[in-house]
This record gives sequence, structure tokens and C-alpha cells, in this order.
Amino acid sequence: MRKERVVIIGSGPAGMAAALYTARAQLAPTVIIGNQLGGQAAITHEIDNYPGFPEGISGPELMERMKAQAERFGAKFEWDMVTEVDFTHGTPFTVRTYNETYLADSVIVTIGADPRKLGIPGELEGIGRGVSYCGTCDGFFFRGKNIFVVGGGDSAVSEAIFLTRFANHVTLIHRRDTLRAGVALQKRFFENEKISVIWDSVLEEILRDESGTVNAARVKNLKTGEVQIMPTEGVFIFIGHDPNSPIFARQLAMNEAGYVITDERYRTSVEGVFAAGEIQDEIWRQVATSVGQGTGAAMSAIHWLEENEERLQSLDAEPTAGD
Ligand code: NAP
Repeated sequence: MRKERVVIIGSGPAGMAAALYTARAQLAPTVIIGNQLGGQAAITHEIDNYPGFPEGISGPELMERMKAQAERFGAKFEWDMVTEVDFTHGTPFTVRTYNETYLADSVIVTIGADPRKLGIPGELEGIGRGVSYCGTCDGFFFRGKNIFVVGGGDSAVSEAIFLTRFANHVTLIHRRDTLRAGVALQKRFFENEKISVIWDSVLEEILRDESGTVNAARVKNLKTGEVQIMPTEGVFIFIGHDPNSPIFARQLAMNEAGYVITDERYRTSVEGVFAAGEIQDEIWRQVATSVGQGTGAAMSAIHWLEENEERLQSLDAEPTAGD
């Protein structure tokens, strides 16, 4: 059992910013890294829109720098995964991981969101063999190939444009006949000669050759009902994200989509527990906005700990079971 002032769950941009601010407030936060140091940003090849890096910076390098900066002020990073939390009895909160049980005066949840899956046959089996959820990570492997992109939002459209840097041709498959993406992106998209669109259609199955590599997909037109097997060398899926919130079920209030509900100070439904980044933000989803949210959550946690200092100290003095 380890007693901490602040436990930060997740090590993406929001978690890194929260670690930096709480570390500089002398709170020696512990960051539970999760399955990817730096979160989704760390699997982004090039980040060109994070202020301060005029030449751009690779995702892994940016996240390593953020970690080093937080460590400089005393943040502790643990290569571990949270398995269970108990926020029901108030502070100190219990955070269980594979290797440790933490008792934390306050918790900052920055566990992010993962790419949504289509849930069709061949999808999971094809990951790493032609199915991808990250153009910036995997586009390079599709040089000269003909690929599909699924979705009609900003992500699908911007990634489709990006993928034309590598692919011979990109076919976007969308379930409706209009795109959800912004107007400026759509203009660049429709002007790109390497892109074509199949409207009103969904993938029903991703097919693979004997070696397991993606070589076709079964595509259904929702208006006509027609089903076609269409050859393709890759399928990139951008249909939104699912927040990594099941572990907080019955612990924190969430909206219908599973995003943790916070107020303008990043306070959750449990006093002393804060949330920042893509676990509570389904709109902006940028490294820069997550950093801002993580900073806000950390400042709220710092104020809350200050305001409750006496109460927390008296709780510390109480004997616990096992003492
Ligand atoms: P999104 O806006 O929710 O779009 C998801 C797309 O996937 C929609 O077109 C949706 O179709 C489609 N879709 C959802 N479930 C599907 C399914 N099961 N089968 C087939 N298609 C499915 O998600 P996003 O594009 O990831 O964007 C998320 C947020 O980040 C948005 O607020 C977006 O503006 C922002 N963002 C901004 C930028 C930027 O450059 N400004 C870049 C990326 C993301 P329908 O249209 O029919 O619902």
C-alpha cells in the first residue's frame, strides 16, 4: 500500500501537464503510465500544431520531453496499469494497479480515448496486416498502394488527404451521402485527384489472403442493398473514439457516450477527483487542448488539497485497518 497526495491515471498530454504542475507544487505526483507512455500522441509520427515547435516534432519525442520536464520537479512515473478504483468512500481514494495499491488524497484521471472499431469480421485479425487506425503511424507502409478509408468526419477526411502522400489511390467509404467534416477540409479533399468516394456504403467484412494480409473488403450499399467484394491493400478506420472509462463505471458520472462529466474546473462528480483530456473532451482532442485541460485539472487539485489540508492530515492520523 502506498500513500500519495496525487495519483494521475494516464500519461498522455493531459497527464503530463498535470504531472508537471502538481510536481512544481511539491506534491510529488505518481503517474500510472498505462499501456502507452505518452498516450495516442506518442504514436503520432509528426506533430506540427503544438505551439513552440516551428519545425514540428515527433510525437514520441514530444512526450519524452514532457515526461523529463515533469520528472525534473519530482513526478514519479510507474510502468503499470490501473485495474480497479474505489472512489465511493471519499478521500483517500483507492487506486489498484497490477503491482501496487495506492491511497491517494486526490486523483486526476487522464486516461484518454481509443479509436472506435467497426466490429466486423476480419477487422481485429487484420490489425498490422492492412488494418490501421492511424494514418500518421502507418501511412508509410502503404506507399504506392490502393487503400480504403472509412468514416466521414474531420479525422477520416484529413487522414485520407494525408494518406495520398503515400498511397497510389485512396477510396473513402462513408455510410451517408454527405460528409460531417469541416468545409475547408472538404474543399481540399474533393480537389485531391488521388481520392474518390463511395457513398451510402459500409464495410461488412475485411478479407485477407492466405498469409493473413488484407486484400479485399465486402462493401454493402445501404440504399440499393448491393454487396460487392472490392479489392484493397489496406483499410484505415476513422469513425470516432471511445473513452477508456469502463473502469470508472459506478464511480464517476458520465454522459451517454461514456465521457466523464466535469465542470469548468475539471471537477468530476466525486470531490477530490478531477479529469482532463480526451476522457472528458469529445470535441477538441488536440495535444494543445489536452495540455491546457491537464493544467486546469492540476490547478484545481492543488487548490482543493490546500483547502482541505487540515481534514486530510487528520484522516492521515487515523489508524487504518492493518495498523
Ligand atoms: P466524428 O466527427 O464523430 O466522425 C465520425 C465519422 O465516422 C462520422 O462521419 C460517422 O458517420 C462515421 N461513423 C461512426 N460510426 C460508424 C460506423 N459504425 N460505421 C461507419 N461509419 C461510422 O469523429 P472524428 O472525425 O474522429 O472527429 C472527432 C472530433 O475531433 C470532431 O469534433 C472533429 O471536429 C475533431 N477533429 C478535428 C480535426 C481538425 O483537423 N480540425 C481533425 C480530426 C478531428 P456519420 O457522419 O454518418 O455520423
